[in-house]
Formats: sequence, C-alpha cells, structure tokens
Amino acid sequence: MPALPPSALDALHATFGFSAFRGAQEAVVSRVLAGRSTLAVMPTGAGKSLTYQLPAVMLEGTCVVVSPLIALMHDQLRGAAANGIRAASLTSADTDRAATVAALRAGALDLLYVAPERASQPHFRDLLEDARIALFAIDEAHCLSEWGHDFRPDYRALRPLLEHFGEVPRLALTATADHHTRADILQLLAIPDDGLIVAGFDRPNISYTIRPRDNPQAQLAALLDAEPGPGIIYAPTRAAVERLAASIGARGRRVLPYHAGLANEVRAANQAAFVASEDMVMVATVAFGMGIDKPDVRFVAHAGLPKSIEAYYQETGRAGRDGDPAQTLMLWGADDFVRARQRLTEVDEHRRPAERQRLDALAALVETPACRRALLRRHFGEEPPATCGNCDNCLNPPALNDVTELARKLLSAVYRTGQGYGLGHIEKVLIGKPDERITQRGHDALSVYGIVGADEAGLVRPLARALQARGVLVPTEHGGLALGEGAREILRGEEPVGLAIAARPARAARRSRDGRAPAGGANPVGDPLFEALRGWRRSTAAEAGVPPYVVFHDATLREVAAQRPTSLAALGEIGGMGTRKLGEWGEAILALVRQY
Ligand SMILES: [Zn+2]
Repeated sequence: MPALPPSALDALHATFGFSAFRGAQEAVVSRVLAGRSTLAVMPTGAGKSLTYQLPAVMLEGTCVVVSPLIALMHDQLRGAAANGIRAASLTSADTDRAATVAALRAGALDLLYVAPERASQPHFRDLLEDARIALFAIDEAHCLSEWGHDFRPDYRALRPLLEHFGEVPRLALTATADHHTRADILQLLAIPDDGLIVAGFDRPNISYTIRPRDNPQAQLAALLDAEPGPGIIYAPTRAAVERLAASIGARGRRVLPYHAGLANEVRAANQAAFVASEDMVMVATVAFGMGIDKPDVRFVAHAGLPKSIEAYYQETGRAGRDGDPAQTLMLWGADDFVRARQRLTEVDEHRRPAERQRLDALAALVETPACRRALLRRHFGEEPPATCGNCDNCLNPPALNDVTELARKLLSAVYRTGQGYGLGHIEKVLIGKPDERITQRGHDALSVYGIVGADEAGLVRPLARALQARGVLVPTEHGGLALGEGAREILRGEEPVGLAIAARPARAARRSRDGRAPAGGANPVGDPLFEALRGWRRSTAAEAGVPPYVVFHDATLREVAAQRPTSLAALGEIGGMGTRKLGEWGEAILALVRQY
C-alpha cells in the first residue's frame, strides 16, 4: 500500500471533521492519491463515497463520478456541499447545466456527477477535453460485468471514454461483487490485480435478532417502542404493507407505506418524507431501499423471510450507516419456508439446486443456536470469531435440545395417519387428545396415539416449524403434512435432531465482546442541551432544504452535549465538525451551549 501523505489526515479533518479513517478507507485513499487505479469492494455503510470525495478535494482537477441513480446523486451533492466540497451534477434533471459546464472549464469543481448514459456520449468526452480531470470514480461498478446480478449496457459504453483518458486513474466501487464479477471489472477497467481492495463484511454496530413469528403485531410493537428513531419494516406483499402501516399508524407512530402499487408521485413523496424524518417508520416491499443513502436508520425489520442471505444482509445493511447502534429483527414462520419450497418447483430445473441451497442457508441462519453474525460472515467467506456479543444468540444463548426421539414420534405420526393431516390434528394424536375426527378415523388406536408426554408437548410445534424449514416435513396440496427429504434417516434413528429453544429475551444492556458498549452510543434521554441541539438542527435543515443528518449526525450533537465546548477551537475538535460547518454554524452552537 502506498504511504498516505500527512496532508490527507489534515484534509480529512478539515473537510469531514474526522480524525481517522474507517476500515478500508485509508488503503483506498492512499492508492487513489498515488494515482493508481483501484477496485474497492466495500459493504454498504463502510463510507465508500469518502474514498473519492477526499481525493477530489486534494487533487488538482475534477473528479468525475459515474453513478446510475439521479436521486442518490442529488443526496450526495447535498452532503458534499454542506462539507464545503465544490460539487455539481450533469443530468436531465438539472437546470443549471450552463453554469456547471463553465465551472468545470474554469477548474472550479471538485466533483462532477454524471449518469452512465450521458458519460458515454461523444460530446461529454469533448467537454472533458477542455477541463482537467483528476480521477474517474465509477460507482456500482458491478453493472459493468455480465457476470454481475445487475448488468447495464450503459456501463459497457463507458469504455471508449475511459480509454480516451487512459492516463487518468480509475476508482471502481461496489458493495456486491462475487469473484467472477471482481475479475471481470479488473480486466475491463485495466486495473492491476493488486488494485483490488476488499473491506470486511462485518457491521459491528448492527445487532441481529431472528424470531419465529408468534405474534407479529406485538413483536413489532415492542421493537418500535424501544426504537424511537427512523426505521424500515419490510413486508412480503402490498396488502401486508398496507395492513401493517395501518396498525402502526393506529398506535400513534408516524408511518408511511411504499410499494409498487402506489403512484410514482406518492412513492417519491413518501421516500422524501422518510429521508428527511427523525422518527418515521417506512413499511415497504423490498422495492424500497435501492439508492437510499439515509445514514440514521435505527432499525430494519423483516415481517417475513427474506429471499436469501444476500438479500437479508443488504436490506439489514441499510440500518446504522452512521456507525451508531442499530437493531434488526427478522420474524419467520414455517409457512414462509413452505411457500418458498413450493416456488422451487416452478423454477427451471437447472437452477433448482442453487435455489434450494439458498433456502437451506436461510434455514440454517434462522435455526442456529450459535452466533448469527459469525454465520453471516462465514457465508461471505470470512473467518470470524465464534461469538460477537451483539446478536440475540450471543446476548441470550438458546438451549440446544436433543429432540431426536420426539422427531421420530412426530414423523411417525405423520406417516401412520397417511400423510395428509395438518399439524393441529397430528399434535392431538401425539398428546392423546381425542376429538370426533380422531375417533372416526380410528387414529386413537394407532401406536403413536398419546406417546408424547406433557413435558414434551410444548416442543411439538417449534420442532414441526424447524422440520418444515429444513424440508423434512413438506406440505401436501390440501395443506396437510407429508414426509420430505431426510425424514427416512431420522425415522430410522440414523440422523440426530437438535432444536434451539430461545431464552426469554432479556432487555439487557447491549455489550460488545470486550465488555464496553459497541461503537457509537445511544442518544441521551432528557438532556435539555441535546434536545435543544436537535431542535436547532431540525429548523436549520428545514431552512436549507436538506435532511437533518446532512447538517450533523447524532454522534456530533451527542459529543457537543457531553463536552460543552466554549470556544470555536474546542468545538472544531468534535467529530464531524469540518471547517465549513464550523464557520457556518459554530457560533450558533456555542450560543446554545451557553444557554443550557
Ligand atoms: Zn453473535
């Protein structure tokens, strides 16, 4: 790794108010400042945009940023401008194009954002001929690769431009790229192999909780009561979105829905309201979230099973991008797995094994008695420690029960009743609770009748749920249960069956491995100065027409409230207080500190 020039730390502090880089940022910035082309694979929330914004401020000339989403571009512009970075965009939505072109030609722009379809036009190349270009940053670079999950021909059309400016270094950025896609990007952009920088997948400030969906309304209400900040709840269907949003609204929380059935204007307005808010809940289908860069999302909940571990990781990754503690909650049911396994029969035969693997990986995640984070990180090829101290299983280790015998009884009851009855009937047979249907069919005469004692009766349902998730029990056409793959081995006693039983969730203080609170902290409750600072931020943001987090993150306001600085110099030492913000708002903040 090239050495980092000392001026980079000064610029980091002056522009962003940070005294140190996070994670892989330093490695990427060092290479970019040394003029070497780089591919940075960094998870959402790892601070990707800083890796080109900082060099853009330091290097002679303009950094051209290719980005596919206009909404995201405009978010970035607002944030850059608040930090005093000279940034503009050239898109169909911009009305100040002549001024932008003039500023570019005059060398008065640090950053120029442009969409790929415009960047690949010959006249854009001519425009850049008249300017000094320091760097090409290509965001969402996986769109370049036909191997990627999101190939865009517009991205391929960028190559002539990049080749024309062959001496200008390139920085390709992506949050999601498998090995194939990475190799493809390196080759397409002529980035040397040692230019690949992969950041770790861990997001230590995100806490993971996964529970069976026993009483979703109450389970979600408990989360909302504990988390007053903004959050997202993903629901599987439009109808479920509308239902959930109505029930949350009825409890008095600010909430909006988002799904493909709403008119475009309504969707855009709801999204804008959520981005600007400090307490709103967005109930949405997975259509929501692409291109949203709201750093202060405090929780992400799933009311149903996500599509895959990749989708779960990406969706939960929208929480806590500011590094403060954030919660996630996934509620799953046996019926989620039943539906997903039924859908397997509809996909092309050659894709079925991969899809089945995806589901099995999800089943392992929801059922594991071990650390959720460790399982997630192993899934992405990392070698994490066995425990994290910040997931439900680490905070309240579940008991792992050997339920092999009970599983044999359950499967045997399904088999002996003819593989067509639902769980309610099977349960009654097992615990010996007679009803009309049981006596009519003679099921009270079976050897399995009443073989489960009172001590084990409570485990029948959780076990059936787990066996359905694993595909050992499968649904029949009429909603009954039948034996699936692996049932025979269990019945013969060849395959032991374990079942994790969650401990009662204690609302204990969340502590990390080393006993300290995780990075960042919770906002103080009832601190008048902190509340006054938030009030000031709200009105300042409204006046400037930007979301509150663009003015300052909560962490900065917390530090001000705790340190109570009395001079501009002391205030400037606080994290997130760059030179531009200090100059613009420093006096107002000091006045508030003196008042409280
Ligand atoms: Zn853990």
